[in-house]
Amino acid sequence: MLTQAPKGTQDMLPQAAHRWQRIEQSMRDVCALAGYREIRTPIFEHTELFQRGVGDTTDVVQKEMYTFEDKGNRSITLKPEGTAGAVRAFIEAHLFAEALPCKLFYITPCFRYEKPQSGRLRQFHQNGIEVFGAKDASVDAEIIALALKVLRANGIDGLRLTINSIGCPACRKAYLEKLRAYLQPKLPTLCKTCQERFDRNPMRILDCKEDADKLTDAPAMLDNLCEDCASHFEKLQDYLKALGIGYEIDARIVRGLDYYTKTVFEIITDTPDGTPLTVCGGGRYDGLVEELGGPATPGIGWGMGIERMIMVQDMRGIAPEAPEALDAFVVTMGDEARLAGVKLVDRLREKGVKADLDHAARSMKAQFKFAGKLGVRKVIVIAGDELEKGVVKLRDMEKSEEKEVAMDEILEAFE
Ligand code: ATP
Ligand code: MG
Repeated sequence: MLTQAPKGTQDMLPQAAHRWQRIEQSMRDVCALAGYREIRTPIFEHTELFQRGVGDTTDVVQKEMYTFEDKGNRSITLKPEGTAGAVRAFIEAHLFAEALPCKLFYITPCFRYEKPQSGRLRQFHQNGIEVFGAKDASVDAEIIALALKVLRANGIDGLRLTINSIGCPACRKAYLEKLRAYLQPKLPTLCKTCQERFDRNPMRILDCKEDADKLTDAPAMLDNLCEDCASHFEKLQDYLKALGIGYEIDARIVRGLDYYTKTVFEIITDTPDGTPLTVCGGGRYDGLVEELGGPATPGIGWGMGIERMIMVQDMRGIAPEAPEALDAFVVTMGDEARLAGVKLVDRLREKGVKADLDHAARSMKAQFKFAGKLGVRKVIVIAGDELEKGVVKLRDMEKSEEKEVAMDEILEAFE
């Protein structure tokens, strides 16, 4: 137990650090170019926020939350996703009173008590975007374009973008009646979860993997949109076309929460064993800010699984190279030389040269071997007798060449 990480968690080991840093940096760069600012919200929130903000008929809230009571008897939940916290902060800090739209991004761990399997962790990480106060479909297209840019910046291309519209409270009411009328006679043949969803969230029944075959002729929200929602969906497609972004319409995507409205989308890749892997999912939630106690404000966002990005990179043999660990390694011989070495390494670092020296009092031979293991190209040798003359030896490890350089001029070798 002591040396085993909890089920469903993964370490980011130093070998993979550059991959994570690159993904995170690309997210920051892409977002900065489009005027998005970073937001960091707590890892935990009041449980009620997620019950209301994610929706208590969802799998996430019903089965997957890490919920516990803290010492003050408050019910606390580790964030299963990023939207609810961002909405809470938007309301609490009165960001709605500033210039809108408010465009935000985040990079955050998320926690879901899932059955650990391929692509499903209990602690995973998301890049995310939320935009508040913009109702035009141009922003729907913008955030989709940004998701694709982040993926492309990491070598991930050619994924499938699927879009759908799940309408608004106005058109959905009539649609849900139609849907219930369609489902009612089939109900006894459907799975238990679907039966439970019938009253409160019948759209989610269409999402059921078990019963999908029985429901192929179900009425689709997409065919029952009101004029406003239909025109929004048309405009989204116009913008996507203008941006040269290919898409498929998939009437089966439902993110069946009451306050999800209009656009929903997923960015998916097919895996070698044929099961689709969703890398990014998002949608519009024009009712959510109000539902959580803020002024009526449209919103839209997405979440992108970072571990899933890395899975896709691995599947496609994309292996970003690690940057060189060090520019210089200082090998020393004797106490006096070591003292000079400590000073030199500090000076090199000050000038932006990545440098290190032996901290294990090893022999010179062992120090060279270590530098070789690190793949360092330049080794600086400081030995007692040369030190008196104020010189060091600079060794090019690749060419196996060595020359004497005045200690004061060593920095020039790294310019
Ligand atoms: P799924 O249908 O796969 O369960 P979801 O609808 O629960 O996905 P979202 O809430 O939309 O997923 O989360 C956004 C993204 O976060 C997903 O597209 C996926 O890339 C990633 N993600 C979600 N759950 C996990 C998990 N348990 N482990 C790793 N990544 C995850
Ligand atoms: Mg899920």
